[in-house]
Amino acid sequence: MKYSRLFLPTLKEVPAEAEVISHKLLLRAGMIRKLASGLYSYLPLGLKSLRKVEKIIREEMDRAGAQEVLLPIVQPSELWRESGRWEHYGKELLRFEDRHGRASCLGPTHEEVITDIVRKEVRSYRDLPLNLYQIQTKFRDEIRPRFGLMRGREFIMKDAYSFDVDDEALEKTYQVMYKAYCRIFERCGLDFRPVEADTGSMGGHASHEFMVMSNTGEDQIACCTSCNYAANVELAPVIQSPHHQNAESVNHQITKVSTPGKRSVKEVTEFLGISADHLVKTLIMIADDRPVAALIRGDHELNNIKLKRFLGVETLNFADEATVRSVTGAPVGFSGPAGLSKGLKVVADQDISTLKNFVTGANEPDAHFTGVNWNRDIPVPEFADIRVITEGDPCPNCKGKIELKRGIEVGHIFKLGTKYSASMGATFLDDTGEKQPAVMGCYGIGVGRTVAAAIEQNHDENGIIFPISIAPFEVIISLVNINDNLMSKAAEDIYNGLLAQGVEVLLDDREERPGVKFKDADLLGIPLRIVVGKRLKEKDEIEIRSRGTGNIISVKKNEAVKKAVEILR
Ligand code: ATP
Ligand code: MG
Repeated sequence: MKYSRLFLPTLKEVPAEAEVISHKLLLRAGMIRKLASGLYSYLPLGLKSLRKVEKIIREEMDRAGAQEVLLPIVQPSELWRESGRWEHYGKELLRFEDRHGRASCLGPTHEEVITDIVRKEVRSYRDLPLNLYQIQTKFRDEIRPRFGLMRGREFIMKDAYSFDVDDEALEKTYQVMYKAYCRIFERCGLDFRPVEADTGSMGGHASHEFMVMSNTGEDQIACCTSCNYAANVELAPVIQSPHHQNAESVNHQITKVSTPGKRSVKEVTEFLGISADHLVKTLIMIADDRPVAALIRGDHELNNIKLKRFLGVETLNFADEATVRSVTGAPVGFSGPAGLSKGLKVVADQDISTLKNFVTGANEPDAHFTGVNWNRDIPVPEFADIRVITEGDPCPNCKGKIELKRGIEVGHIFKLGTKYSASMGATFLDDTGEKQPAVMGCYGIGVGRTVAAAIEQNHDENGIIFPISIAPFEVIISLVNINDNLMSKAAEDIYNGLLAQGVEVLLDDREERPGVKFKDADLLGIPLRIVVGKRLKEKDEIEIRSRGTGNIISVKKNEAVKKAVEILR
């Protein structure tokens, strides 16, 4: 490709709308453009990278025995009613009516559609296992689309769905997919880690997320410093640590103290001169439609997902001021477990079961209790692990300590079990002639997010440093002066030589100053740059420079193609 003909609108300025580096560089390198919130167009260079990731995914999915299909984006509501998700999927599901008034949605995922196909076509255990995948556009009306390709509303996903005869067979398929995912992300040149994850609205039994390690990641991962345990903090169980127990032997008197205007943990503890682990916060939440109270130690954070699972509810949100007043009798900031409205469900984090003489809100304005003790002052509630794991907590797997890291979730694999096959009737006849629901798994990869994650991990102050496997071009030839016949001729020869070798090469034949060409080459992150400049005239040499290492070698013009191919392969 000749640069002069390429539609590649690069930007010198850093676009104001972009917060993370991948978003900035994707815009600056002319790879994508924004249409509206969460909607992006891929320009030629961006599409090239995207296609490379897709190619790697296809090769590995095919190798793993999956078969490619292409399913519709528009899906009828009936299918979603059958699975029960029409009501339960939140506002991310874009629902609409067609001209005949038929309720439809844009597919945020395709379990329903694929299960519908399989229930109509698969009859016998002989038809299984089956693993079908597609690479296609998804739509999720994300509440906060951001970071460019990382969290779009419309985005490209590879999604695969497997159907097996039983759990054991699914386990095998799952392992095959797990390995395929490792190969895919290795081939994309990413530093990643598979971590145990929550199964979320998908339902199911087990799941792993593939996390690209990066400080800008939206996910937090709990990693053990001693063993290889790693889990999303959403899921990581907390082992009750004796270290945190409050060992005071005497029970103090319960005392109401005035705490005017002191609402937050910080304000109350500073005012009373106590540490946050002596305070119990009382969070009034709405679980589905009912209020509940969650009790958490002042220095801990509620884990919504754990509490949701414990309560068996679909939604969990902080209650509004009016609800807080009605169940506690006080404004927000003064809630406590003593004297809550009758019948209100109270769930307490296990780590406060061992506390003594703690501080709570007094359920009246501007007041707290000190010296609170279980039984005597407040009824013992249900205890459960409902907090977020923190740095220094014990590893759930060994004796080690947990540290927290950030990651970008590029892939997610789930064991679904029979959630969809049972509700939608995707059954087969087993070898005894009995009807059984197929046991399913599903496997997603964010294709655009993978490109963004690769940039997040591979860049410097001058621009992108693409891993060669997903670079839009492998080589860029910087022709320093297009009006110099000798240079032009040499650049053309090298260009044609590389093309003949099947190398993807971009010839910068623009009428631009060398400085501009070099800057753009760095910005685009193409792995090898061949400079055809004044050395050619002096010594018949060209320069080959590696974008990643900055290494430069000089070789005779006639050796250029051979040498470049040698470095690339
Ligand atoms: P997240 O927690 O980031 O919202 P998810 O759990 O909703 O992700 P899945 O439903 O498992 O994601 O989708 C499979 C993959 O699709 C994810 O691993 C991610 O790489 C990608 N993905 C999900 N949502 C988006 C989005 N809004 N924009 C870009 N890629 C996305
Ligand atoms: Mg999501």
